[in-house]
Amino acid sequence: MTEPTPARKRLFIRTWGCQMNVYDSGRMADVLAPLGYAPADSPDGADMVLLNTCHIREKASEKLFSELGRLRAMKADKERDGGRMILAVAGCVAQAEGAEITARAPYVDLVLGPQTYHRLPEMVARAHRAAGAVIETDFPVDQKFDSLPDEAAPQGVTAFLTIQEGCDKFCSFCVVPYTRGAEFSRAPAAVIAEARRLVAQGAREITVLGQNVNAYHGEAPGGAVWGLARLLREMAEIPGLARLRYTTSHPRDMGADLIAAHRDLPSLMPFLHLPVQSGSDRMLRAMNRGHTADDFLRVVDQLREARPDLALSSDFIAGHPGESEDDHAATLRLIERVGFAQAYSFKYSPRPGTPAASADLQVDEAVKDRRLQEIQALLRAQQDGFNRACVGRAMDILVTGPGRHPGQFAARSPWLQPLHGMGAFAAGSLLCARVTEAHPNSLSVQVEGNDLAGPELSTEPRQEKAAA
Ligand code: SAM
Ligand code: SF4
Repeated sequence: MTEPTPARKRLFIRTWGCQMNVYDSGRMADVLAPLGYAPADSPDGADMVLLNTCHIREKASEKLFSELGRLRAMKADKERDGGRMILAVAGCVAQAEGAEITARAPYVDLVLGPQTYHRLPEMVARAHRAAGAVIETDFPVDQKFDSLPDEAAPQGVTAFLTIQEGCDKFCSFCVVPYTRGAEFSRAPAAVIAEARRLVAQGAREITVLGQNVNAYHGEAPGGAVWGLARLLREMAEIPGLARLRYTTSHPRDMGADLIAAHRDLPSLMPFLHLPVQSGSDRMLRAMNRGHTADDFLRVVDQLREARPDLALSSDFIAGHPGESEDDHAATLRLIERVGFAQAYSFKYSPRPGTPAASADLQVDEAVKDRRLQEIQALLRAQQDGFNRACVGRAMDILVTGPGRHPGQFAARSPWLQPLHGMGAFAAGSLLCARVTEAHPNSLSVQVEGNDLAGPELSTEPRQEKAAA
């Protein structure tokens, strides 16, 4: 069977996991566009269905296999009608469990790890020729970025841009170093070119991404190595790019130059996701985090000194092997001390092949559940308090599109809070608005300032800001 070349083939992508997977899914769609694949909103009757998976916590493979079961029937229907649906599994579950996928679901056509999606066109062609699955799970990460097309579908007003991949830190609990490979940073010139392209396509806010984004060390022409701070300073000069963010950072790589960038760059938004995982030094050692609770608190203090309106988010794990009640209490104390605007917390889930999975002293499920609930109750109260403290305050907002109700717009605050208000404002408008009401996961705002949102608009922070 040869690859048919109709003008438009329907491609449905389902994405699980973090923003890096969202970015990857977009780039896979870009790679497939020259073959005639255009996005579809449902897998029904699609010519290709791509499942982009995440392996970070448990149940990833169960979710995948139950989804594959549903798709198998659709694939059979399509074949009965004389067509073909290519089924592809990408991402970290594909990387970690490729052989099991083809054994348990032999109707899957393609299995590709996170570093091989630039090879998709060739893999699709091979799938049309071959019987059996085509599998690519190497780690040629440098080739991947070099081989991606310059053309990319617009992401909209807010865009992601992956600048770094992989991780060499080997935290006891985490699969990332095994599924995404060693740390790799893209060259600054390629990042800046992509950022300019995103802005030309309408992006006003860019979030640069990496598993350890602040370990970024991109090689500039002449062999100079740029850290994240240098890269952000350069990106802040791009005309029309009003807002910058970066995620996910590691406390160990929060250097003085990056903290200074928070002081110096108004377009670097005053909100930072900085995972700490635990407030107990004993646990941080067991987790191989390479920092203590005090190290983390020192970084937080320095950041707040540099940018007083900075608000923080973090990640916490409840019930890592060996965690005692005292360790858990230390985590609650750290949360109280910092005060987070928002945070993620997870019950420890053993990931096959990681040191913590085979460690002694696994914590009882019921204990993990209770500790997680205690962490989440405290974080929820802090988030509610942060949102309530915004009521009555004025802030710069970025309109992201229409809201859910007629006459409503949706927007984003500097602290990444979802906003909504009434009025006909175009996506990309930067406005001054006052917060009128706080809801559990969003804020209502009333626009006070006109749209000043030419690309030249200054993003100088206003004096009146919500306290972190
Ligand atoms: N690189 C980031 C860092 O150093 O913290 C985090 C990346 S990881 C993809 C996102 C979050 O998932 C981690 O911060 C951690 O809280 C959580 N996580 C990772 N492995 C986990 C596991 N085995 N069980 C529970 N949570 C886990
Ligand atoms: Fe995983 Fe982050 Fe630790 Fe790397 S630094 S092993 S990505 S938790």
